[in-house]
Amino acid sequence: MDRVINFLNDTREDLRSSMAKDAAAIKNESIRIDGSPKSSKILNSNGEQSVGQLDKELLYDFQRKITFSKNERQDSASTVLLDKRTPYESLLDMSNEDQLIDKLLHSGGMIADKLKGSRQQIILVASLIDRIPNLAGLARTCEVFRSAGLAIANKNILTDKQFQLISVTAEKWVPVLEVPVESMKVFLEKKKHEGFAILGLEQTANSIPLDRYNFPTKTVLVVGREKEGIPVEIIHMLDACIEIPQLGVVRSLNVHVSGAIALWEYTRQQRML
Ligand code: SAH
Repeated sequence: MDRVINFLNDTREDLRSSMAKDAAAIKNESIRIDGSPKSSKILNSNGEQSVGQLDKELLYDFQRKITFSKNERQDSASTVLLDKRTPYESLLDMSNEDQLIDKLLHSGGMIADKLKGSRQQIILVASLIDRIPNLAGLARTCEVFRSAGLAIANKNILTDKQFQLISVTAEKWVPVLEVPVESMKVFLEKKKHEGFAILGLEQTANSIPLDRYNFPTKTVLVVGREKEGIPVEIIHMLDACIEIPQLGVVRSLNVHVSGAIALWEYTRQQRML
């Protein structure tokens, strides 16, 4: 506990000082920009906005990122400037950071309990998906949007290294249910009886465009197999099919991308209630 408390204190101190620096930088820049009559967009002879001006504008927004310790902050600053690491090493770094957060949150049982509560009432059914990056990506997206659960065909995949590198611990926070493909129908019937709308994310003859669909709060959303999509016997038991309107030539989106777009749309609609 002492180590956890020390870590929290260090982190808080680092955050405060970096926030203070950011605030000062933003204030300085706004005085310089607003105080000058040339503050409105500076155009060069080609009519383009000058790079210096754009830099200043960028200062108003910045990436939110947790800083861990002074040492690690220096490390990450040098990584950005002089990136000698391989993408794999960078991924490992990210994974270590996430494991650190994970350990920290697990040691504070109350925080963990809080994180596990108050979920959105959407369950994503990904039992038909085979590819690990798609499953891991969906686990992460489900966690980010606090879904009630993610159903997958086989939970053994959760211990796979590639899965864990992509999911960045998401599977520890979002409830993962094991629903083998042959049990999908029974699972969907059960959820229907519990008052969930059973929806499919698929391009079908009767599917409703996502931007015209109002999601019920209690939703189960089935996504399809990478190549074949949702099998017809499952389509027949759905309350509705939703499709993401496409403008290009390629026939379909990647399944994780589709799930992420739909989950965001569901979340957006719930935020407006
Ligand atoms: N049915 C597709 C193949 C599946 S793409 C085809 O005929 O080529 C894999 C999954 O991604 C689909 O089952 C669906 O769940 C999702 N998906 C891809 N593009 C989509 C879109 N435009 N709208 C809704 N879902 C989509």
